[in-house]
Amino acid sequence: MTVKVGIVGYGTIGKRVTDAIMKMDDMTLIGVVKQTPDYEGEVAVSKGIKLYTYEDKLSKFEKVGIKVAGTVNDLLRSVDVIIDATPDGVGAENKAKLYEPAGLRAIFQGGEEAEVAETSFNALANYDMAIGKRFIRVVSCNTTALSRLISAFLLHGYKIRRVRAYLVRRGADPREFKKGPINDVVFNPATVPSHHGPDVQTVLPTIDIVTMAVAVPTTMMHLHMVNIEFDGQISRGEAIKVLEETPRILLFNASSKKFESLAQIIEWARDMGRLRGDLMENAVIEDSITVFQNELFLMQGVHQESIVVPENIDAVRAMFKLSDKWSSIKKTDTALGLVSAGKNYNLT
Ligand code: NAD
Repeated sequence: MTVKVGIVGYGTIGKRVTDAIMKMDDMTLIGVVKQTPDYEGEVAVSKGIKLYTYEDKLSKFEKVGIKVAGTVNDLLRSVDVIIDATPDGVGAENKAKLYEPAGLRAIFQGGEEAEVAETSFNALANYDMAIGKRFIRVVSCNTTALSRLISAFLLHGYKIRRVRAYLVRRGADPREFKKGPINDVVFNPATVPSHHGPDVQTVLPTIDIVTMAVAVPTTMMHLHMVNIEFDGQISRGEAIKVLEETPRILLFNASSKKFESLAQIIEWARDMGRLRGDLMENAVIEDSITVFQNELFLMQGVHQESIVVPENIDAVRAMFKLSDKWSSIKKTDTALGLVSAGKNYNLT
């Protein structure tokens, strides 16, 4: 069986998920919904992607000569599931307006409230919770990175007493030319905990986690400074082994390999020929991994534009019961070129 997928919202996340779906042999991309006839639509058509739009926007596309395959309703009638990657809050409106009336299944993104779906989702943390669900929400970029990191230790049998994380967020994505800050550090949000801690608890409900966040004038990646306190001892060597073995986490070494900044990590992804220079894995800075008794400290970079892409794919498999957790994670990583030496796809 191949699952027929439609994408609504073809921006930063939507276009990356679209490309990923096209690489899966158990999924078929039917098309994407776009509202605006622009260069991104033109590129999509040139890649053979079918565009759909709203009835009242058809003439706009026609005017600029961008080919449309049909209306949103045509797409909804042809798919098994919609992956909604519209801006924060629009997904919930689309659910009520479009997906529920059409009797469709849908996957939402982290900008929606958790209540939009039956379960929030991170593949390493709670794949099984999503099996057979009609509505799933893939948690945000920051939450995905924290959930993967915490899950790495849980999957290796470590008991976590508490997690404290300090998030330095990128101000905007590279394509967002109207957004800042350009000369500031913004309390983003000013509340403690920031929403990221509670959001991690939507996929790892028993973890004691508190987060604080600011936004800075960069566009490349977020940086997390994380402190995990364990019940019992862990050595630095053990922590490194856990992270080396866990899929979707990569270690970058500053002293031996000269990875001294996030820019160099992104440059690595570009040099490796990753599509768009994306880095879908957590980028843990190996030199930052430090253990004092039962406390672990580390820094990780989070490529916000792409980190949730593998999870959107796994969410489709869980929803349609196509694979068990580890078969899905391995299949996704293989198709996306994320498998590296030493990764263990059988952690329980
Ligand atoms: P984006 O603004 O880059 O893309 C959204 C796209 O949806 C735009 O092209 C917009 O024109 C289109 N759109 C808006 N309303 C629409 C509608 N009714 N029908 C069809 N298309 C519509 O946004 P994004 O950054 O890709 O974010 C999408 C979701 O992913 C949000 O929930 C966000 O919180 C989440 N997310 C974003 C990031 C990130 O860093 N960019 C990371 C993880 C998760």
